[in-house]
Amino acid sequence: MINVLNIDGQRLTPCVLDRAWREVNRARAVWIDEQTIQLLYNPFLYREYRKAALKRDRYTCLWCGRSGTTVDHIIPSSKGGSDRPYNLLAACMECNTKRGDRPAFAYWREKVRFAPRRVRLMYRIVKANVHHQLNRLS
Ligand SMILES: [Zn+2]
Repeated sequence: MINVLNIDGQRLTPCVLDRAWREVNRARAVWIDEQTIQLLYNPFLYREYRKAALKRDRYTCLWCGRSGTTVDHIIPSSKGGSDRPYNLLAACMECNTKRGDRPAFAYWREKVRFAPRRVRLMYRIVKANVHHQLNRLS
């Protein structure tokens, strides 16, 4: 098992090696030594952000209008996308998996006929991209 530290050094439940590597590869954690990773985010806060995003989107997949119980990162985590609600969309498992790490604009074009509120969705994508650019500059 791998020891896990919170962003402020607090010790969390240990995890398996695979999970530790997944967090590190997604730029969500760093290795402190060969048996310890430190998270670069607060997992408790992330849970709250997810909940807030799902509630805001009424548990409806914004890509296709079906029931949405997962959150999709508009800017993917692998590209440094934030875990804050502005970067999260409620999504069904299928859309979340199908889109993968593709840019949100590309998936929007593919799904535009099905999206229940396509203009609002485009607005959200643009907003997340603007936020992302601003965060990079600061
Ligand atoms: Zn969907």
